[in-house]
Formats: sequence, structure tokens, C-alpha cells
Amino acid sequence: MVIDHGIARSHRLGGVLPDERGRFGRYGGRYVPEGLMAALLDLERTYLAARNDPRFIAELDELLRDRVGRPTLLHQIPRFAGALRVPGVRVYLKREDMTHTGAHKINNAIGQALLARRMGKCRIIAETGAGQHGVAVATVCAMLGLSCVVYMGADDMARQESNVVRMRLLGAEVRAVSTGGRGLKEAVSESVRDWVANLDTSHYVFGTAAGPAPYPWIVREFQTVIGRESRAQILKSEGRLPDYVLACVGGGSNAVGMFHPFVDDPGVRLIGVEAAGRGGHEHAATLNFGRPGEVDGSYSYLLQDEDGQISRTHSIAAGLDYPGVGPELSHLKDAGRAVFGTATDAQALRGLRALSRTEGILPALESAHALGYLLDVAERGELPPDSVVLVCLSGRGDKDLHIAADGLDAPEPDLRT
Ligand SMILES: *Cc1c(COP(=O)(O)O)cnc(C)c1O
Repeated sequence: MVIDHGIARSHRLGGVLPDERGRFGRYGGRYVPEGLMAALLDLERTYLAARNDPRFIAELDELLRDRVGRPTLLHQIPRFAGALRVPGVRVYLKREDMTHTGAHKINNAIGQALLARRMGKCRIIAETGAGQHGVAVATVCAMLGLSCVVYMGADDMARQESNVVRMRLLGAEVRAVSTGGRGLKEAVSESVRDWVANLDTSHYVFGTAAGPAPYPWIVREFQTVIGRESRAQILKSEGRLPDYVLACVGGGSNAVGMFHPFVDDPGVRLIGVEAAGRGGHEHAATLNFGRPGEVDGSYSYLLQDEDGQISRTHSIAAGLDYPGVGPELSHLKDAGRAVFGTATDAQALRGLRALSRTEGILPALESAHALGYLLDVAERGELPPDSVVLVCLSGRGDKDLHIAADGLDAPEPDLRT
């Protein structure tokens, strides 16, 4: 089955372009104040020119190679696969945790920083929740000599103090946001306010494949490096495409970046894994339990109550704790091209412990949701024998040690390998 996206195709960085209004099917768009329209159109024009400019692509590729450490490894995890207890199953990990700064976010941060420079802007604004995106942006700004302001909710700053120190050491100014819920939502609002006031000098580096057009498209394009490398690597080692591709879903950037190069391969099943949190109403599983609405400048699935108020979310993984999701994943869901499962906090911790013990790799709690989901599916007898499974390991777990340590006294996962 090939999905007809009804939108133009391009071959340069590969992919499905959004239509002229920046929509993926019925999702996306630009729901922003008039003052931002020109800046968004300028960003779109700049990117369209950059992606056809061999010098831009060459500089991006060089930085990804020399400063990020790409291509990242793709390899089998036979002891983890053994723990699934399904005959003949092979599991491959895409090691985004081995990039500089330890997560996929730097792929997008570098790309957007180069676009900022191309637009003649030498001041970068970014929002951050747990600090992962802020650290990636601060790192890139130090690398390229750009000045950097990161907005972060005051409560998040208290919770993620080490990332605040990291960003400051890297030369970024971290501004505490003390309004409203003192979290990511407020940090996004402050970033936009700063951007509108400083459009001539500043570019806002948005951290996930969501927000107003052209961000969902641009962020996806910079993250498709994950899927493009994986596709070539697995063809080389396996001689065929995988049966299943799994990635965790927060705003959706590592998932859509991994999925995109497989969208036209009908035999490859794309599975996003959202955070089911503590179960009940305490979750962040937008595509599973939300309905379409407007959030952060675009139309997409959203967790909201009957009155359209954005719901409070919970996940043990800070990077998944977000009520929205990018428009392209919403479109892939409605088109039936990707499906979305969930993993609870407990299942994610189980995934983290299992991978650590069987393979010596400590995954980020976000990525551990995909592993927990896989363990669960295998246990339910729903994973066919001889399947080839590709999992995006979006980040490393060092940032989550204080949370994972709490679970150390829990019963051991039953891993007979
Ligand atoms: C931020 C983050 C995520 C979630 O963001 P997406 O945009 O959905 O990819 C997942 N994993 C890690 C390690 C992160 O830092």
C-alpha cells in the first residue's frame, strides 16, 4: 500500500513536502500573530534555497560527521532480542544516544543554526523543557559563535539543575519563566515574545517537529538523517528492510525523522510509542487519546478537555511530557500509515533495565518507552517469529539516573538469557 499524500515530492533531502499552506493532510498550518508571519515565510524561503545549495548540504554533512559523530551506529542487540522469547526475532538499535550531547536533538539544532547564519541572524532563541534541547542549542551556538538565550520554566530549572549548569557553561543565557505553570508551555510563549521583538537579529530554534509551518517540515528534514542512515545500514546488514520500525513520540521529531524514509515501503510497519504515564488520566499519549485542535501555532492532535482546555500531562520521561504532537504524525495516523501504541512509566523503566542488563546500554527514559512496548508486545504473543525490528534509541540515560535509581529495588525483570 502506498499512501497518496497528495503533495509534491522532492528528492534532494528526500521526502514529502507539505503543501503551500504548510499542511500535512488536514494538519499543520500557521496559527500565529500577524507579526510572525513574515519571519516564518522568510525561514521557509531560506530553507528552500538552502536545501538546493550544495554548499549548505556540504557544510551540514561535514558538521554532522565531525562534530556530531554521524553516521551513528546501527547494530543488533541479540541478548535483548533473546529476552523477547520469540524464535528468530532480530532487533536492531539506531544509536542516536552516541551523538555528541547524547540525543537526536542536535541534528535539528545544527541545521537550524546554519539557517540562522544564512539569514544573517547571530542571536539564537530556544525553549527547553527538561533541558535536552537547550543543551543541544547551547552546544551548537558555542560551536558556531552565535549568542544564545534559552527560556526555561522556573520549576523545570529547579528539577533539571545540571542541564542549567551545562547550558551556562556553554555560554548560553538561561532565562527563568515564572508565569503560569512555570514549565515548557510558558517557555515557548516567552521565546515567541522575544522573537517577535527581535526579528532582525534573532532566530527561534524550535525543538521538535511541531509548531507553525515551516517548523514541522524543517525539523523533520533535519531529523530524517536518522531514517536515511538506518535504511541504508539495515539493508547492508540484513539484506532487506525491517518488518517493524519503532520510535518514542513526544513532539514527534525522532519518530518522524526515523519513519519518513520508510513511508513509501509498504511492508515496513511504523509504530510510534507514546507515554501512558501512570495510566488513567495521567499520561501524555496525544495520538491515542487526544483530538485535533490548535496548539503552539498549528492544527494537530492535542490532549484537551471538553471545553478545549489543554490537559495536564504526565510522563516519567520529561521529553515525552507534552500535550501536543507534530502535524505529520497526525496525518500518518489518519492515513493509517503509522500506528501508535503506548508504554506506561513502569513499562519504560522495565525497558530501561532490560536493555541495561542485557546489552550494557543505558537508554534515555524516552527511548525506553519503545523498548518497554516491544517487551510487552512480545509477551502478549503479538510479535511474529523471525521478525526484524528496528528501534530508534533517541538518547542516552545519564540524565535519568536519579529517576531510574528509584526503581532499582523493584522486582527484577524476568530475563532468561
Ligand atoms: C526530547 C526527547 C525526545 C522527545 O522528542 P521528540 O521530538 O518526540 O523526538 C525523545 N527522546 C529523547 C532522548 C529526547 O531528548
